[in-house]
Amino acid sequence: FDEASKDVLESRLVRNACFCSVQLQPLESPIIISCSEESLELLDVTPEVVLSPSFASQMSGSSLIPSSQPAAHCYAGHQFGNFSGQLGDGAAMYLGEVINLRGQRWELQLKGAGRTPFSRAGDGRKVLRSSLREFLCSEAMYHLGIPTTRAATLVVSDTRVERDPFYDGKPVMERCAVVSRLAPTFLRFGSFEIFKEKDVYTGREGPSRGLEHELLPKMVNFTIQTYFPDIWTSHNGDQLIHTSNIQGIQDMYLDWFKEVLRRTASLAVGWQSVGFCHGVLNTDNMSIIGLTLDYGPFGFMERYSPDVVPNGSDDAGRYDFKGQREVCRWNCVKLGEALSPVLPERLTRGVLHEAYDDVYDRLYISLMRKKLGLLKRQEEEDLHLVTDILEAMHQTGSDFTNTFRQLSSIPLPSKNVSLTADSNGGPEAGSASTALLSTIMAHRATKEELVRMADSRMPSANLQMLMLLLHRDPALLHALGTNPQAIARDIERHKRAEEIASTCEDVRLEQDTRIWTSWLQKYEERLRREAEAGAINRERVQVMNATNPRFVLRNWLAQHAIDLAEKGDFMEVNRLLELLKSPFTEDDHDTVVEKADARIHPVLIAKP
Ligand code: AMP
Ligand code: MG
Ligand code: MG
Repeated sequence: FDEASKDVLESRLVRNACFCSVQLQPLESPIIISCSEESLELLDVTPEVVLSPSFASQMSGSSLIPSSQPAAHCYAGHQFGNFSGQLGDGAAMYLGEVINLRGQRWELQLKGAGRTPFSRAGDGRKVLRSSLREFLCSEAMYHLGIPTTRAATLVVSDTRVERDPFYDGKPVMERCAVVSRLAPTFLRFGSFEIFKEKDVYTGREGPSRGLEHELLPKMVNFTIQTYFPDIWTSHNGDQLIHTSNIQGIQDMYLDWFKEVLRRTASLAVGWQSVGFCHGVLNTDNMSIIGLTLDYGPFGFMERYSPDVVPNGSDDAGRYDFKGQREVCRWNCVKLGEALSPVLPERLTRGVLHEAYDDVYDRLYISLMRKKLGLLKRQEEEDLHLVTDILEAMHQTGSDFTNTFRQLSSIPLPSKNVSLTADSNGGPEAGSASTALLSTIMAHRATKEELVRMADSRMPSANLQMLMLLLHRDPALLHALGTNPQAIARDIERHKRAEEIASTCEDVRLEQDTRIWTSWLQKYEERLRREAEAGAINRERVQVMNATNPRFVLRNWLAQHAIDLAEKGDFMEVNRLLELLKSPFTEDDHDTVVEKADARIHPVLIAKP
């Protein structure tokens, strides 16, 4: 930084505080276009309230809910591997905390409600496409059984803001939207990292933010007492603080840190199990209570690829699907470092293996075994079956969600059959897996899709444009400020993808069949041992169909709902929300849609 920008940065630092109060910034004609009744219930709000214009006004930050005090949270974070110093809620506004009739505490936040002291150059607004995605995915994730922040309402307004469509020339005006979010707390790893903020902007050593060294333990104590009450109570936290028992306090902090590690590991396992890629796993997007937090350029896997990077600006692929485990662990290390003034780093580093790695491994195999329908004694072979099915999907471009869902159609070989069966397996199991094989093969990627998958980090339109530019005038790339190396990598990948795809289609068919037949054989052998151990097919199918979702929020589904919503048709977002509430349903397709439509609140459909 030069001296001048250092001053600007200095002047916008918020010191000695974790929150700032903010002003309401009303939107024009806000209307609620979708709401989650389950989330509203957490606030003791009945769906009828959705009808009232004053509610839309409140849920868009245009008027105040009585007794709420709007505020923005001051946090820091590591973004893409580097410490960024102070970030803070630049587009989110706290309204306060609701204690509902069941005695639960829920923090209520509006995302997109306008500028805060942390908005920097941003306008503090969100547009319909990003809000709709966050709204749907929050609820979808909850119904998949994966910890997440919740979403209650989706509001759209007539106020417009300018947004740059990626790479595409002219900025466009888009309608502002606001999502209301709920969570027991929105505190994140970055909420603890803010206390080391001094290093980045001033370059000075030592505390420059005054009370900061007192704020860190205050924040840690508050967090444990409020959100981890069992840990607080079992350590007798009140007493420890009162008597300044340093050793006792450290023991309590370490127990808490271990619990954060366990929850983070468990969350990452949940994501891997449904093919979810978060996309922006910066430490400011890591919930301290282990929730999925901040739905930006996330993606659910379709054709399985461990290299999927849903974030178009993540050139290095730091936040790809396969890396989520390690990146979450790295974030935990950064949290440990931020806690070092109150908890020595040798302690936080010392527990990573036991409370993160081991927990991850244990939960991963246990969840993946359920997906394969293996419920009896665990075998070493089981992890190989998991690795191999993923590899088979990768090689053949199979759909992650559908492939797992279909596995339950292979029945357990019945005990009688297995006793008399020859080494090729029972006739019953064999014919089912032949049927499965043909289904998987029918759904696997076409040539064009393979190319697109390999190019998935870059929309093909951009790639074509860039290739044109490259042929005509490489210097133009520099003028555009594009990184020529990154482009070269993309083009190289594209060529490779085309080569793979243009391999003779017959050869591909033969290869893919071989890959799947080989995996299915191993699986059937494993199922035979499962049957011998006394497994019952009905129970197995039940577990599998409650673990392997049928519906996930695929990108194109969200995009379809966005396209219609942008034209003023809100039916699809509401239908999708209802579908995503029963991701494991076994109803046939028409019934599913019928039921979904019947559940949509009439007022939401009647909107112009
Ligand atoms: P994210 O990458 O979404 O986690 O956001 C990183 C930082 O940018 C956070 O401090 C956000 O609050 C801030 N931010 C995101 N969107 C906006 C916006 N539209 N206006 C102002 N700040 C924003
Ligand atoms: Mg964020
Ligand atoms: Mg975000």
